[in-house]
Amino acid sequence: MSEMMKGFAMLKIGEVGWIEKEIPECGPLDAIVRPLAIAICTSDIHTVYEGAIGDRHNMILGHEGCAEVVKVGSLVKDFKPGDRVLVPAITPDWNSLEAQAGYSMHSGGMLAGWKFSNFKDGVFSEYFHVNDADGNLALIPDGMSVEEACILSDMVPTGFHAVELADVQFGDTVLCIGIGAVGLMSVAGANLRGASRIICVGTRPVCVEAAKGYGATDFISYKDGSIEEQVMEMTKGKGVDRVCIAGGTVQTFESAIKSLKPGGKVGSVNYLGAGEYVTIPRVEWGCGMGHKQIMSGLMPGGRLRMEKLSSLVASGRLDVRPECTHVFHGWEHTEEALLLMKDKPKDLIKPIVVID
Ligand code: NAD
Ligand code: ZN
Repeated sequence: MSEMMKGFAMLKIGEVGWIEKEIPECGPLDAIVRPLAIAICTSDIHTVYEGAIGDRHNMILGHEGCAEVVKVGSLVKDFKPGDRVLVPAITPDWNSLEAQAGYSMHSGGMLAGWKFSNFKDGVFSEYFHVNDADGNLALIPDGMSVEEACILSDMVPTGFHAVELADVQFGDTVLCIGIGAVGLMSVAGANLRGASRIICVGTRPVCVEAAKGYGATDFISYKDGSIEEQVMEMTKGKGVDRVCIAGGTVQTFESAIKSLKPGGKVGSVNYLGAGEYVTIPRVEWGCGMGHKQIMSGLMPGGRLRMEKLSSLVASGRLDVRPECTHVFHGWEHTEEALLLMKDKPKDLIKPIVVID
C-alpha cells in the first residue's frame, strides 16, 4: 500500500478537483477501506455549491459508498482485510454519551456522527477511514450488487427515518413531500409500515413511476397550487395523519402543518440549506394546541441498522434498483456524476460510480 492516495475533493465553495493526500492512519478500533462503488448525494451538492456546511478547502467529498476492507486496527474483532462491507453515511462513536442517550448521530456534538466530508475526508477516494469499525460496518449480504449496497449507505436509512420520525401506523394516510432518491424510500418505508394511502408531491415521470412501484396511491404537484389545498381536496377536508418531508425549503413545514390532522406528526429529513427560520402557521397549528408534532433528524447510522435494512433488500422485501438510474464505471466519471446530480436531468434519481 503506497503512502499517498488520490481523492476527489471540494477545493473551495463552488470548485472541485482531484487532489493527493496521505492514506489515513488506522487507529486500534478503526478500518481503512477502499471503495467498491460510490454514490453522489444531493448533500454533496449543498456542500460544494451552496457552502451549506461552510467553506472547506481540499476536503475529499462523499459519504455514500460500499467498500472492501484493506486494514483493521488491533482491537477490531469482526472484520478483516478482504471483507466486502456496507458503510453507513453516518458513523457514530458508539462509546459516547450521546449514543448512550439514543442519539448516536449526534455523538460528539450536533450532527457530529456525520463525519465523512464534514469532519474528515469522505469516501470519494482510493482509500478512506472508518471509525469504530465493529460498530459501524456490516457485511454486504451474498448476492447483493455494489450499486444496491450504495443505496443502503444513506437513501434507505434516511428515507426510512422520515417514516420513523413521523411514526407511521397501520392504515394511516401519509403525505410524502419530495420524491427524489430519499423521498422514494420514505414512500417504500410508509408502505412497509402499513399506510393505507400515500399521497406524493412530485411530478418527474421517473420518480412518479418508481413511487408507484413503492406503493404511492396519489400524486400532486406543488407547481399546481398549494400542497395543502390539494391535500384537503383529496381528503375531503380531513387532512393526513402523517407527513414525511424529503424535499422543499424552510417554508415546506407550513404546508405540512396545514395538511395535517390534529394529532398528526411530521417527520422531516430534509437538509435545510438556506433561510434563517422555519415558520409554523399559528392558526393551523391549533394556536399552539393542535397536537401537531414536528420531528426532524439526521439518519441513524451504525452496524445494526445496516444489517437490518440490508436484510430487507436481501430478502426481496425492498427493491432499491429503481433508484440506480445512472451507473458509471471508473473513478474518471466522478466529476461527471457529480455534475449530473447538480443539473438533475429529468431521468435522474441517483448517479453511482462503480470502481472496477
Ligand atoms: P432530491 O433532490 O433527489 O429530491 C428532492 C425532491 O424534492 C426533488 O424531487 C424535488 O423536485 C422536490 N422538491 C423541491 N422543492 C420542493 C418543494 N418546494 N415542495 C415539494 N417538493 C420539492 O434529493 P434527495 O437525495 O432525495 O434528498 C432529499 C433531502 O434529504 C435533501 O435535502 C438531502 O440533502 C436530504 N438528506 C438528509 C439526510 C439526513 O440524514 N437527514 C441524509 C441524506 C439526504
Ligand atoms: Zn447522502
